[in-house]
Amino acid sequence: MSINTQTGERRDPIYLLTIGYMLALVIIAVMSVCIHVVIGQVVKEQNNAAVVVSGRQAKLSQKIAFYATQYVQYRDPVFHDQLEDAVLLMHDSHKALIQGDKGLNIPDSPSGQIQRVYFGLPYNLDKKVTDFLMHADAFLDKPAEQISADDPDYRYLIETAKGPLITALDAATMAYEAESEIRIAKLQSYQKMALFVIFATLIAEAVLIFRPLVSRVHRYAERLKQLALTDGLTGVDNSRSFMHKCMKELKRCRRLEKPLCVAILDIDHFKSVNDRYGHLVGDDVLKAFAQFVQRSMRIEDEFARIGGEEFAVLLPHTPLDGAALVADRIRNIVEISPIRPENYDGGELFITVSIGVAEVDLDAPSIDAAMSAADKALYKAKTGGRNRVVASDDYSSVGNVVPLEKPKRG
Ligand code: GH3
Ligand code: MG
Ligand code: MG
Repeated sequence: MSINTQTGERRDPIYLLTIGYMLALVIIAVMSVCIHVVIGQVVKEQNNAAVVVSGRQAKLSQKIAFYATQYVQYRDPVFHDQLEDAVLLMHDSHKALIQGDKGLNIPDSPSGQIQRVYFGLPYNLDKKVTDFLMHADAFLDKPAEQISADDPDYRYLIETAKGPLITALDAATMAYEAESEIRIAKLQSYQKMALFVIFATLIAEAVLIFRPLVSRVHRYAERLKQLALTDGLTGVDNSRSFMHKCMKELKRCRRLEKPLCVAILDIDHFKSVNDRYGHLVGDDVLKAFAQFVQRSMRIEDEFARIGGEEFAVLLPHTPLDGAALVADRIRNIVEISPIRPENYDGGELFITVSIGVAEVDLDAPSIDAAMSAADKALYKAKTGGRNRVVASDDYSSVGNVVPLEKPKRG
């Protein structure tokens, strides 16, 4: 339970865990979207327009040299047109690479390395391309009959395309590629960061939310089980739990061929306790009675409250005469133990208990018959004067009861 410092209100931990869980889900969702966007960017970067256009410039320079040669050789206007197209495209591409082109997704300010290739030594690519295209334009402007293999513009195109221009264009493409790789590496580091955040969130969720939630649910489940199987007033087993334990014990005793007995205990004249001292004192007496019985039982015995002021004890590995002796010990302890009820300030109270004992038929499917035999024996104990133990060694009737002598009061 945490406290809201502003309002002083107590916040339910389940509420906080739910908020934490939802927050973790939101973080994971946001990070997943980020990863998706970053992957999209990486794919885009891998098809980088500047790299493609720069690579195409190298090819265009070679095409221009080729078409110029074909045109010089054959003077066919088709080669002139092809040359013109290539020159135009190279012009436009150069402009896009230098000034940027939004449509082609080419940035308007190239990085330092690319700037150096275009405007610095040793490549001076901008000047090389401009000169190259200037000579190409001059060559294109000449009438067909004027051109020859000795034409200076033609010679310039052939020599430059073969050597310095292609080297500088390759250097530019490599610079664009290097820049793109740097950007991809940066995006990949973002992707790794997002993945790390997702994993950290998942781990935090498992440790801080899921684990406490599971242990809380487990505790609640245990508590519910406890509530379902114990008696709320005395804290001892209830009859459902007792019957379950009896079935287990019956199977075990059957397997080991050991005798099994049950005893039903009923507080004598309990109604008069309630009538005389009130219901609350009656409750205190029931609690005290349960404690007396628990204290005088053997460790292997099971004890439960099966009705208002009725209790039962299961006595494994015990023949009927032994069970009757255990029951009589309980009866005696109850008789001599003073009760000091919480809700009564008039001193001590004493109660007595009557007990019916019966042996369980190990071949029977349940202890029901033995319970009713014990109940009948209990009835005999009540009608015989109370504060006594009656044992029935007949599984199906109480025809053969063995009353224990009631001790004389000192
Ligand atoms: P007997 O010696 O024949 O057993 O007489 P008795 O008065 O003990 O038996 P009876 O069956 O007449 O009365 C049982 C009483 O137990 C009646 C009921 O009000 C009381 N009782 C049952 N459950 C509780 C409980 O949880 N608390 C209290 N205080 N009394 C209870
Ligand atoms: Mg009763
Ligand atoms: Mg009673």
